[in-house]
Amino acid sequence: KLQIIYFVTPTYPRREQIAELTRLGQTLMHVQNLFWIVADDSDVCNARLDKLLDNFGIPYVHLSSPMPYLYRSQKTIPRGVSNRRAALAWIKNNNIKDGVLYFGDDDNTFDLRLFSEIRDTQRVSMFPVGLIGDYSISSPIVKHGKVVAFFDSWPAKRKWPVDMAGFAVNLSYLRKYPNATMPYKAGYEEDAFLRSIELKIDNIEPKASDCTEVYVWHTQTTKTKAPLIKIANDVLENSKT
Ligand code: UDP
Ligand code: MN
Repeated sequence: KLQIIYFVTPTYPRREQIAELTRLGQTLMHVQNLFWIVADDSDVCNARLDKLLDNFGIPYVHLSSPMPYLYRSQKTIPRGVSNRRAALAWIKNNNIKDGVLYFGDDDNTFDLRLFSEIRDTQRVSMFPVGLIGDYSISSPIVKHGKVVAFFDSWPAKRKWPVDMAGFAVNLSYLRKYPNATMPYKAGYEEDAFLRSIELKIDNIEPKASDCTEVYVWHTQTTKTKAPLIKIANDVLENSKT
């Protein structure tokens, strides 16, 4: 039977948001048996987002998952953590026992082959992520079909030096770890989450032809501050003449 993929997308209000979600939604429209959990870093569920999401025809839930103010004022903020925690809580509260969990940020790029790779994840699967760090790739290293080490330009003493988009988890496996969580600790979210589900290196299922193919990229959109102040100033300036 074709497992359902629970695709968790943290998103947040900024001027790029609709463009990012349009591109991602139109990728996900091509995927069978996918349930989209869209968790917005916002105090309210923006009705315009619902309108956008309705149009894709993808089954989804739209959660409001604001980052606690305490973390927002930090120097490096834990981006997307409140969102992913809300998604984990939603899966737990809805008693979802089967399926595959995947964390797919709103600005990443996904090859459709990724979905057929992760769909039969038994416990935890892993695969390369392109456009990460100084090495331009983060990937498990596979020998004789087993993950033996990791290639990542920012080891930072992590046990699991992988990107959020570089693994998938089976939900019946996840259920065995009621304390599974993701901390508000920028840079260490993946490591701590994988520790919280007691991952063992021998249990990792390498995907994407023994981690030799790239099916997901950590693309980033150039951010521009919404130029409202400039507009206001220009209007003021023009009105003087
Ligand atoms: N994000 C969020 N709130 C924020 C900043 C980011 O919910 O204040 C989300 C964002 O939409 C993305 C994820 O968290 O899905 C990771 O953020 P971003 O892509 O900015 O981080 P990067 O990829 O640069 O590490
Ligand atoms: Mn990103």
